[in-house]
Amino acid sequence: MSKPKAQSSKAKRYAISKLGLKPSTFSANAVKVCQELVAAGYEAYIVGGAVRDSLLGMHPKDFDVATSATPEQTKRVFRRSRIIGRRFRIVHVYMRDELIEVTTFRAPANKLQTKLQHADASGRLLRDNVYGKLEDDVWRRDFTVNALYYDTSSHEVIDYCDGMQDIKSKTIRLMGDPLTRYQEDPVRLLRAVRFKSKLGFKLDKETEQPVSTHPHLLATVPAARLFDEVLKMFIKGYGEPVFYDVLHYGLLEYLFPETDKAIKKNNLPAKKLIAQAMQNTDQRITIGKTVSPVFFFAVMLWPAIETLANTYIKSGDSPVNAWTHAALRLFADQQSTISIPRRIGVPSQNVLIMQPRFEKPKGRRVLWMLEQSRFRAAYDLMLLRSEFGIVDSETADWWTKLQTLDQGEKEVMIFGARKPGSKKSNTKKRTRKKTTKKKSSDAVHTAKKKRKRAPRKRKTKKV
Ligand code: ATP
Ligand code: MG
Repeated sequence: MSKPKAQSSKAKRYAISKLGLKPSTFSANAVKVCQELVAAGYEAYIVGGAVRDSLLGMHPKDFDVATSATPEQTKRVFRRSRIIGRRFRIVHVYMRDELIEVTTFRAPANKLQTKLQHADASGRLLRDNVYGKLEDDVWRRDFTVNALYYDTSSHEVIDYCDGMQDIKSKTIRLMGDPLTRYQEDPVRLLRAVRFKSKLGFKLDKETEQPVSTHPHLLATVPAARLFDEVLKMFIKGYGEPVFYDVLHYGLLEYLFPETDKAIKKNNLPAKKLIAQAMQNTDQRITIGKTVSPVFFFAVMLWPAIETLANTYIKSGDSPVNAWTHAALRLFADQQSTISIPRRIGVPSQNVLIMQPRFEKPKGRRVLWMLEQSRFRAAYDLMLLRSEFGIVDSETADWWTKLQTLDQGEKEVMIFGARKPGSKKSNTKKRTRKKTTKKKSSDAVHTAKKKRKRAPRKRKTKKV
């Protein structure tokens, strides 16, 4: 089947009882939002991922509503609501404990540039706030499987674009002319790849082609928007297949350019290590464990940082300095592609800066490492590096064993690890109290600075 071109206004309607769904499949809060809008004289439907996922027997993670009411009119219907967004204005409605996103039906993309809808030179829509009817809104959605509307009054799914057919044949199909739609919003390239893995669908040929031929469109996407999108791609339970697709379609260069270069250089088992990290993350999600964007960004940037650190080490830097400088530099560079907030970026850098400190573990340093809030993530990355032959297995085993011991046994193991002949005075120097101060902070790469900045004051007794 080719792409749905004709903007036919003939809709197919499917009773949900015939699709194996019950009205209770849909969030009672989202249904209430629709019904209140209908009672106020507007049209309103549950749309998008919630309908798609329910039809596939998956649990929708959130509910979106599409309505004929403008954002201002919607806001007037719900006391607990606010209008957000500029490029694409939507209303957040708080219904009991749930947040429902309400969007107004969009009109077709117009060649005429207006204050409410305009594009840049590449065709990317910078603003899309011209409102229309349900029949218009359908064609402004990205994929056919995301353009199914659930009517909460008639209990029917409304399908203008053969989305039900694509659900059945497990096909991701962009609506309209694929290249134009990707140009309008290049994030759709990433969404295509994400839904392919999330749903286990295939990409329709015409939808797939520009993903390989036009990944450079991503270069125009604001870095802040890519941050959210990348997390949805990689830490939602299907990161491993997404990672392989991102490599396959040549998208990595536009997400993590330095990592892409390091993978192509092939001096580290980077591809395998990242894929393994993604697989571990996916497994954690499957069994209901939490996952962290801190670890994700550390792993993603690791190949570039280790490669750069090695060049610094070759030119005479100590490993700790080399990793510190490499991490600071590459995280700063990465910001121009994906803007990583400091609350994630700083601990992520610490996970990397801790890496050389795992080697040749010595004295109080070891206790200090164990106290770092990001120790666990840093240890997990070190284990992966060991699994792929970068860190020797004795080092990895030493740290693994250490964590099984009580405090007293730990100290025996740590001080026993000191090489015979190392100076006693070293140990003395390291017994300063500062270790307890930084117990729960992400203080690794600020530790040195702090030491320099705060020379100990000598208390001079006044007599
Ligand atoms: P999930 O919630 O699993 O990410 P979803 O399909 O619900 O999937 P959302 O980002 O929540 O995705 O968007 C809700 C709906 O809004 C989509 O199903 C789609 O109809 C529409 N939509 C979202 N992003 C775009 C886009 N970039 N272009 C066109 N339509 C979009
Ligand atoms: Mg959604």
